[in-house]
Amino acid sequence: MKSSSLYQYKYYDYRYEYDYVFTGAGAAGLSLLVRMLKSGKFRDKTFLLVDKDRKDRNDRTWCYWEKGEGLFDEVVYKSWDKTWFHGPGFSKLYTIRPYRYKMIRGIDFYNHCLEYIKQQANVRILFEPIRQIENKERYARLVLENGEDYFAKAFLFNSILFEVPPKDEHTQTFLQHFKGWFIKTEAPAFDPDANTLMDFRVSQEHGATFVYTMPVDEHRALIEYTLFTEELLDPAAYEEGLHNYVRDFMKLDKYTITEKEFGVIPMTNHQFSPGEGRIVNIGTAGGQTKSSSGYTFQFIQKNSRAILQSLLTNGTPRIDPEHAGRFRFYDHVLLDVLTHKELTGAQIFTRLFKRNPAQRIFRFLDNDSWLPEELLLIGSLPTMPFLRAARRVI
Ligand SMILES: Cc1cc2nc3c(=O)[nH]c(=O)nc-3n(C[C@H](O)[C@H](O)[C@H](O)COP(=O)(O)OP(=O)(O)OC[C@H]3O[C@@H](n4cnc5c(N)ncnc54)[C@H](O)[C@@H]3O)c2cc1C
Repeated sequence: MKSSSLYQYKYYDYRYEYDYVFTGAGAAGLSLLVRMLKSGKFRDKTFLLVDKDRKDRNDRTWCYWEKGEGLFDEVVYKSWDKTWFHGPGFSKLYTIRPYRYKMIRGIDFYNHCLEYIKQQANVRILFEPIRQIENKERYARLVLENGEDYFAKAFLFNSILFEVPPKDEHTQTFLQHFKGWFIKTEAPAFDPDANTLMDFRVSQEHGATFVYTMPVDEHRALIEYTLFTEELLDPAAYEEGLHNYVRDFMKLDKYTITEKEFGVIPMTNHQFSPGEGRIVNIGTAGGQTKSSSGYTFQFIQKNSRAILQSLLTNGTPRIDPEHAGRFRFYDHVLLDVLTHKELTGAQIFTRLFKRNPAQRIFRFLDNDSWLPEELLLIGSLPTMPFLRAARRVI
C-alpha cells in the first residue's frame, strides 16, 4: 500500500472521506459552497463543512457596492443609490447608479446559507476547532483539535488564516480597524436615502481616520469609526471617536446604542498563498482582501464565481489572477505613501473624490477599471509623493 493512501489512517471509513471539504464557514466558505450547491452540478458529490463557531452571532456587517442583482440580495438589510463623501473643506453627495451600496448583517447571511446547506443531503456540517490541514498526493487532510481527521478526495477549500502575515522590513502591514455602533433615536435623525461612505473631517491624530454611516431608517443607523494605521488603539479611543462624531457632526445628544461591533482587517502587501495541490485558500486567507481598502466581500463573490466556473469547465478550481499584478502594484504604492506619511489618507481620498465620479473610483477599487481611467485617477493625485512611493515599491 502506498504511503499516500487514505487507508493508512486507522479511522478511515466513509464518514471521514468527502469529495470537497470546506475549512471555515464564514463569508468565503459559505459563499462558495452555496454557489456550488445551487449550480446543481455536484449532486453526486459529498461535502464536509467545518467551523469552530456555530455562526449564530451577528459578529460583523458587510458593506459593498454592486451593479445589478447579487446572489445574496435576499439578505440585504438595506441598500442605497446615493452616498456622501466628506473631507476637510469638501462635501459632496454622489448618485452612484448603476451601483447600489448594499449592507448585509452577518447573522442574516449565516442563517440564510446554513439553512439552505442543511437541506442538502450530501453535506455534513461539523462545529469543531481545526488544528491543521495538509496536502498529500491523492487527498487533502484536516485534523481537528480532538485528533480526528477527515479527507478531501477532490479539493479542500480553506478560509482559515493559520499563519498571520509576517512583520518584517519587506512587509507593509497596516491594519484597518473599526468600532461600530448601531444607534437608535427617538426623534427622526437620519436620511435613509443616502449613506456616508467616508467622513474624513474627524481628528486625524491617530493616522488615517474616517467614519462611515449606514442609516437604516430615520431612527436607526450603523456608525463605524475606522482607522488605517499600524497599531490598534486603546479600546476607549474608539468609543471616544464615535461619541465625538455623533455629538459634533450628527448633532445628537439623545440616542441608544443597540449593538456594537469591532473588527480588524489586515492591509498588507504580503502575498497570501493560493494553497497547494488539493488545498485551495479562499477569502482573506487566499488574498481576497484588497490591501489598500480592506474591502473583501465582493472579491470573495467574484472569486467564488470564477472558481465555480473553472471547476465546471476545466475540472480545477485554480484560476488565473486576472489583472492582479497591476492592481497589486497600485495597492502597494498607496500603502507605501501612508507608511512613509507622504500624504494623509484624508488628503488622498479627498483629492480622489473631488476630481472623479464615484463610479470611476468604485471600478478602480474593484480592480475593474481600465488603463485610461486609472491614468485619470492617478492624475488627480499629487504626483511626486506617489512617484517616490512607486520607486520604493519597484
Ligand atoms: C467586523 C468586520 C467587518 C467587516 N466589514 C466588511 C465590509 O463591510 N465589507 C467588506 O468587503 N469586508 C468587510 N470585512 C472583511 C471581510 O469581508 C470579512 O472578514 C469576511 O468575513 C472574510 O471572509 P472569510 O471567509 O475570509 O473569513 P471569515 O468570515 O472570518 O471566516 C473564517 C471562518 O473560519 C473559522 N475559523 C477560524 N479559525 C478556525 C479554526 N482553527 N478551526 C475552525 N474554524 C476556524 C471562523 O470561525 C470563521 O467562521 C469585515 C471584517 C470584519 C472582521
